[in-house]
Amino acid sequence: MDLISITQKRFESAITLSVIVPYFNESQVLPSLHSRLTAVLDSLPERCEIIYVDDGSSDDSLQVVEGFQSSSSIVRSLSLSRNFGKESAMSAGLEYSRGEAVVLIDADLQDPPELIAQMLEKWREGYDVVNMQRRERHGETWFKRQSAAIYYRLLNTLVKSDIPENVGDFRLLSRRVVDHINRMPERNRYMKGIFSWPGFKQCILQFDRDARFSGETKWNYFKLLGLAMDGITSFSIRPLRLATIFGSVIAAGSLFYGLFIVAQTMFWGNAVTGYPSLMVVQLAIGGIQLLCIGLLGEYIGRIFIEAKQRPLFLVQSVKEKPAVMIFDQMEKRA
Ligand code: UDP
Ligand code: MG
Repeated sequence: MDLISITQKRFESAITLSVIVPYFNESQVLPSLHSRLTAVLDSLPERCEIIYVDDGSSDDSLQVVEGFQSSSSIVRSLSLSRNFGKESAMSAGLEYSRGEAVVLIDADLQDPPELIAQMLEKWREGYDVVNMQRRERHGETWFKRQSAAIYYRLLNTLVKSDIPENVGDFRLLSRRVVDHINRMPERNRYMKGIFSWPGFKQCILQFDRDARFSGETKWNYFKLLGLAMDGITSFSIRPLRLATIFGSVIAAGSLFYGLFIVAQTMFWGNAVTGYPSLMVVQLAIGGIQLLCIGLLGEYIGRIFIEAKQRPLFLVQSVKEKPAVMIFDQMEKRA
């Protein structure tokens, strides 16, 4: 091994904390985020890196991030070739991360960077996943809060796993969990499920989620509904089971009703009545059948997407200081 790669190796094993920030058109917030984040990281004894993942922003966010690199050598800037969605951006960050502990944080300052110190504390105690649970949802509408509550209830009954309620993507993962997640092959990155699937020692810290610092959320209700659907269908086949049960109940009911009608006709004769009941039964069964076909379609769609095996994201550029330089600077700081 030559000197550079030895230093590189030494450097890689020296990184303790990676902070991953996926962002999409956040140029207004990024400077405040960066100054708060570096203030926190500078106060930590750990060697850190910040991985900014540009999810195909169309504003000047990427230039803003690359500007940070002149004053801070711990900044690595990753840029995806287009907008792949936050899940893919996070996956990219996880793949490039080198730290023994990895923190995922939103760019919009809804997740306070100051909490990273507490999260690391838990990690040092031996936890592999530190979930950050929202105590209050500031700046969110009543409707959003209610729909979120109902959704979690539904998700946890259907998926029957331990997806903690009101925990977003803000969390700390240990290296071994990150390695397992990086090996998970699915294209459908429903991160809430993916983060809790590996298990290991998990804990929950509560925090107050702030309102967005500026800009708009990129989620609308239509997208959220899609995400909700993804969550259920990518982590559970219970809806299919429910459809089977539902179908069996209806089939059994129809059988008895059918027998009843036959008996009624044989013993009492049948004047042509029953148009309303006929219509109701017809429509109800038709509706249920369509629903179940739709449900099947959801799963088949997912099989189709998985079968294509396309990459999760494409990286357009990586800008980072050579490892040796960062190492030097860190040595000086330490
Ligand atoms: N984000 C991203 N790609 C997208 C949409 C969002 O990387 O396609 C980032 C966004 O810049 C922010 C984080 O994901 O850092 C959370 O997004 P947002 O605030 O819109 O979601 P919310 O907080 O409302 O769940
Ligand atoms: Mg946000």
